[in-house]
Amino acid sequence: MIGDVIEKEKSAIAFEPSSKPVPVEERARLLADPGFGRVFTDHMVLIEYDEDNGWHNARTTARHPFKMDPASPVLHYAQEIFEGLKAYRRPGGGAALFRPEANARRFAKSAIRMAMPPLPEEVFLESVRALVRADREWIPDTEEGSLYLRPFMIANGSFLGMRPSTQFIYAVIASSVASYFKTDSPSISLWVTRDYVRAAPGGTGEAKCGGNYAGSLIAQAEAVRNGCDQVVFLDAIERRWVEELGGMNIFFLFDDGSIQTPPLDGTILHGVTRDSLIRLARDMGLTVREEDYSIEQWRADAESGRLTEAFACGTAAVVTPIGRVKGRDGEFTIGGQSTGPLTLRMRSALVDIQRGAAPDPYGWIELVD
Ligand SMILES: *Cc1c(COP(=O)(O)O)cnc(C)c1O
Repeated sequence: MIGDVIEKEKSAIAFEPSSKPVPVEERARLLADPGFGRVFTDHMVLIEYDEDNGWHNARTTARHPFKMDPASPVLHYAQEIFEGLKAYRRPGGGAALFRPEANARRFAKSAIRMAMPPLPEEVFLESVRALVRADREWIPDTEEGSLYLRPFMIANGSFLGMRPSTQFIYAVIASSVASYFKTDSPSISLWVTRDYVRAAPGGTGEAKCGGNYAGSLIAQAEAVRNGCDQVVFLDAIERRWVEELGGMNIFFLFDDGSIQTPPLDGTILHGVTRDSLIRLARDMGLTVREEDYSIEQWRADAESGRLTEAFACGTAAVVTPIGRVKGRDGEFTIGGQSTGPLTLRMRSALVDIQRGAAPDPYGWIELVD
């Protein structure tokens, strides 16, 4: 199996270079203003799985459409998981990944939750490295730019029975990206949805699966209708405790310099950014609480000035300040509705490590040669 082969021989993912790469001038034009998630690179990684062969046929090949049977289980029952991580251009050239083994571990956990075969973590890592090597020229050379890597796994095959599939496709695609939010505003606004929940105890909130997103899109649309950038979800039982955004974790910062974020209770995604920021904050000497925070308390603290800043975080959004929170019973603002000093400090501490502007005492950076 590939897992074993890769232990011994690093080149177990075959390389079939694209015969029609995007011309250099065209690529330069695309990289000048890539936006988020719409510019794709020349290659993709593919690995197949079936019960007889396990993971096999691993290759980096030209990016191309899938050909699938219309009865493929992913199309009907959403047996699908994904990851998101970035490759950064290094100051002296070369590329770096940020904590890719954390994504590999989470991907394996998501697979188990969705009754899919976990991809060996070393295979995940090697697949991501392989795509960065093939498409390193697609990493934008701009301050906010990076190569967003999207590993994912889908249930393939041809049957409509209600059981886990026995055939899967694992793939990695890459997108050259600038910052996630294109607003000129220095902060984002949140809509507190009362009608929809993202995750419930015993559900799939902790797994990074496409279904979680499909179920949250209506609430995100509700947010946009109400003039907000993003939706923030409350817990499913009491509809009171702040959980997270559709695809980002959330932090609250207080006037005593302490920081709070909701605990990982099974319904919240274990963000790598969240985890890294907790570590950085503690090492800055700040008090970090992983404790529930209610929507009423949030409002009261914002109004009294006890809460001075709040931000959303994730690989895509990095650290994005929250300036305004709106719900069906009114709205409140936070601090000066711009990037507060502590948000800025935490953001810089993270980004400087990711981009190689600061030393990496944690061993979070992996250089891709
Ligand atoms: C991916 C994701 C995050 C952020 O996780 P990172 O590892 O920091 O990118 C947060 N919440 C949800 C629901 C997510 O899907």
